[in-house]
Amino acid sequence: MFRNSGIPIGRLFGIPITLHPTWFIMLFLVTYSLASYYVAELGVAAGLSFFLGLIVALLAFASLLAHEYGHALTARMYGIGTERITLFLLGGVAQIKEEPRTPGQEFLVAIAGPAVSLMCFAFFGILAILAAMAGAPASMQFGLQALTSINFVFAAFNMLPGFPMDGGRVLRAFVWWASGDYLKSTRTASLGGQMLGMMLVVLGVYLLFYGSFQGLMLILLGFFLNWLARMSLQGAVHKVAFESVKVRDLMRPVQFVVPADMPLSQVVRDYVYRVHADRFPVVSGSTLLGYISADDIAEVDRSQWDWTPAERLVRPYGRREILSPTDDAWAAFMKVNQLGRPNLPVFSGRQLIGFLFANDIMNHLNNQSRFGKV
Ligand SMILES: [Zn+2]
Repeated sequence: MFRNSGIPIGRLFGIPITLHPTWFIMLFLVTYSLASYYVAELGVAAGLSFFLGLIVALLAFASLLAHEYGHALTARMYGIGTERITLFLLGGVAQIKEEPRTPGQEFLVAIAGPAVSLMCFAFFGILAILAAMAGAPASMQFGLQALTSINFVFAAFNMLPGFPMDGGRVLRAFVWWASGDYLKSTRTASLGGQMLGMMLVVLGVYLLFYGSFQGLMLILLGFFLNWLARMSLQGAVHKVAFESVKVRDLMRPVQFVVPADMPLSQVVRDYVYRVHADRFPVVSGSTLLGYISADDIAEVDRSQWDWTPAERLVRPYGRREILSPTDDAWAAFMKVNQLGRPNLPVFSGRQLIGFLFANDIMNHLNNQSRFGKV
């Protein structure tokens, strides 16, 4: 979701922290609502209220970061790294590189975030009590109380039993542990998340009906959570279907190779019209020159087709377009989708040994579901 988007602001414990552009909206909203409280209830001057609001907001986001580090550092105990931690419109996310391997790991990595939030809740709560006893300024007491409540809400909201909340992962860990069935447990947690999302939508409609525009926010958030919950199930289904399947298991051997000196008219007749592919590898002797594409041929005037050899239109394969037979089929499928190609060449060293077709990957997925494996 956050690939390559966001502003890097540094590293902590070796994990980069990035701010997604939407985070600034949240920072502004939190600062603004705190500042208006400072002005309305405590009579603080407008300029100072924004400054105080900003400090409290930044401490709240620091608490959120601590929550995400709870996940990331627990995952590290199991040798699982974290790509980055991102703060965005709706909170934070630690992009942990692998799914936990056992229910126990899943449980501990998931619970660590809310546990840290509860510690922050206790920390700010104690400070708030001490500040009240010491007769500290009202603005400071309010800031500490706000941070106490915010951390409580972080912990509580995240423990809701459905994806993508941490509580969903805790739920999955339990079902996984009890049933030994990774997919079934994922389905349960995803269903929980979808239901929670729809409950937010219903609540939002209710609020909107009574004239509160915050209802609109809840409706959007509800649909978003519902979508994320469905996506996490799809991810798990794919993961299981492609477990230990490699590119070489699904690829097709090279069949349709165009000799470099073949005229375009013959390439069109013998290849483009006969085979469902938009590109064909071009070879000179046993050397692969690159590929020729149907689109490029269409650019050439028809009257020239008999006289133009294929090698004139050869383009080299891009580095990113090349697969290795030992690549994971699932990673390759993502690549095929990303690049929007119906197939990608498979090389062993410098030698072209086959092609991986997006259709074959989809067929594999469908067969797996037909036989009840996923
Ligand atoms: Zn969390």
